[in-house]
Amino acid sequence: MAEAKTSELMEKIVSLCKRRGFIFQSSEIYGGLNGFWDYGPLGAELKRNIKDCWWRTMTRLRDDVVGLEATIIMHPRVWEASGHTSTFSDLMVDCLLTKKRFRADQIEPQTGTAYFYTGAKDKTNGTACENAFAVLVAKGKHPDYARKVARQFYQLCGLAEPDLRGERTEDATQTTRYNPENGALLTEPRPFNLMLKTYVGPVESADNLSYLRPETAQAIFAQFKNVLETSRQKLPFGVAQMGKAFRNEINPRNFTFRSREFEQMELEFFIRPDEAVAAIFGSVAQPSGPGHPGEPQPNWGWQLWHQYWVEERIAFYESIGLPRASLVEYWQKPEELAHYARATVDILYKFPFSKRDEKGELLGEELEGIAARSDFDLSQHQRFSGKQMAVFDEELKAAWPKLQPANQTALRDAYFQARHRYLLKLGEPAEKAEKQARDDAEALTKGYYVPHVIEPSAGVDRLALALICNAYAEDQAPDDKGNLETRVVMKFHPRIAPIKVAVFPLLKNKPELVKKAKQVRDLLRPHMSVFYDEAGAIGRRYRRQDEAGTPFGVTIDFDTLGEKGPELKDTVTLRERDSMKQERVRIDELVPRLVDRTR
Ligand code: ATP
Repeated sequence: MAEAKTSELMEKIVSLCKRRGFIFQSSEIYGGLNGFWDYGPLGAELKRNIKDCWWRTMTRLRDDVVGLEATIIMHPRVWEASGHTSTFSDLMVDCLLTKKRFRADQIEPQTGTAYFYTGAKDKTNGTACENAFAVLVAKGKHPDYARKVARQFYQLCGLAEPDLRGERTEDATQTTRYNPENGALLTEPRPFNLMLKTYVGPVESADNLSYLRPETAQAIFAQFKNVLETSRQKLPFGVAQMGKAFRNEINPRNFTFRSREFEQMELEFFIRPDEAVAAIFGSVAQPSGPGHPGEPQPNWGWQLWHQYWVEERIAFYESIGLPRASLVEYWQKPEELAHYARATVDILYKFPFSKRDEKGELLGEELEGIAARSDFDLSQHQRFSGKQMAVFDEELKAAWPKLQPANQTALRDAYFQARHRYLLKLGEPAEKAEKQARDDAEALTKGYYVPHVIEPSAGVDRLALALICNAYAEDQAPDDKGNLETRVVMKFHPRIAPIKVAVFPLLKNKPELVKKAKQVRDLLRPHMSVFYDEAGAIGRRYRRQDEAGTPFGVTIDFDTLGEKGPELKDTVTLRERDSMKQERVRIDELVPRLVDRTR
């Protein structure tokens, strides 16, 4: 029941997105392209507002984060260093009957009776096909179903009238080997690299093979030294970037949630390794409990920085209108963590299409991942490029000689162990790894280390979809005759609403009203996005803006012109979208009031 309701809700949302110009299928006139989406006039404004809010929060309002805008295509070695060339793949399976492709981990386990066939012979000419095939038949379904599907399979193999061979059955419990849509056997899972390939230059040769970036983050690592040297930043500090990313997803689905072209907003926040913090400050501050740990302190190690960014990011989502109760803070289990990650928290939003737990509660789907990635990324680029990624820390150099010898030994050992583990894991020969790790530990005592990083990585499109789902509401509102009707209203937070204010002259055939309304529009326009609308009954115009999610409406009527006396002259009606309350406001108060409520 709950699921039927949520899929109905999703259908309404998808249809509103098209009808009102939030999101269109890419290349729709040619039948669309799976996994690609275009943003219409309202969607484009929404996305821009999301990105502006993120950029402002992450860079302009902070001293310790700077921006970067790098290219989409980078040197292919970048993707070898990051591990994407070798490991950025999902396991995929194909339906042997329809050839439809699935991500292996997304197949729902099924139970039933599996019918196996060793092959088939064509009744018309005796040709044989010896390909094995199987069909899963759910309990209660007739066995003839398996035979029908198997015959279709052998027809595809070229037999006109297949006579099935070697039928045998077996009970199957919680199996993921069959297509949930038709019961046909799937291929064995095999890895599929998600990077989209292209060639740079006129020759399509292996030497010119390049990739469209599957994430924006790697450019930040590749440019780390340039940014450090030009920005006058010192650790801890961050580099933020947003932009397009591409993944050849096996199953794009859930509207824009899993697309093949999308935008990311990523921060790499570089910090000292804990051994350096301990050497400088005597110890590393530890988290004292859950929640925001407060203003950053110099003696924070990776754990507090990680906790800080998780809380900052949740606060960001709340500041643009996602209620805390719609978000889930999911701590990845040790077995789910990437080998280099010390901790990863996914921030999930309870989309209507999310899976549910046994109590029927929505579990949520990922909006953002916040990972403590150790010094893996910069170390990898150091190994692959041969360029130093270590920084020199004056404070560490000064602090080291003042440490007790026992402390020096303990910190040097801990650092050696961490570097040694990393080098062995990445396949360095034992002897080389040992020597390199010793050199790295020695360098630490002189003030050098490769920075560690905390990475909050979010998707613009997923956030836009979450904000659209969260905003969608239906309530009752009076029409022009005062009768109640169902109203669709997009309750966007004013900060991210595509249009902030709509301006309406009460009647379009009264030149004085139109003139005044256009003056009000021009007064507001330099400060916010304004939509001017003079067509149709005022109630209908309000309703159109409710669907667009415009938080404020300003109506210019005869009172504005002073027809009811001087006290109402140059006042307008200000209508609030959610409460539908209307109040009289002086025109010269509009800018400060609306600016205050939409920033
Ligand atoms: P998922 O597990 O859902 O595939 P991921 O863990 O691979 O996501 P990351 O590599 O951590 O995702 O990317 C960071 C963010 O980029 C995600 O949290 C998400 O918001 C966004 N993102 C990743 N893949 C896609 C996609 N195919 N379509 C839209 N957004 C995406």
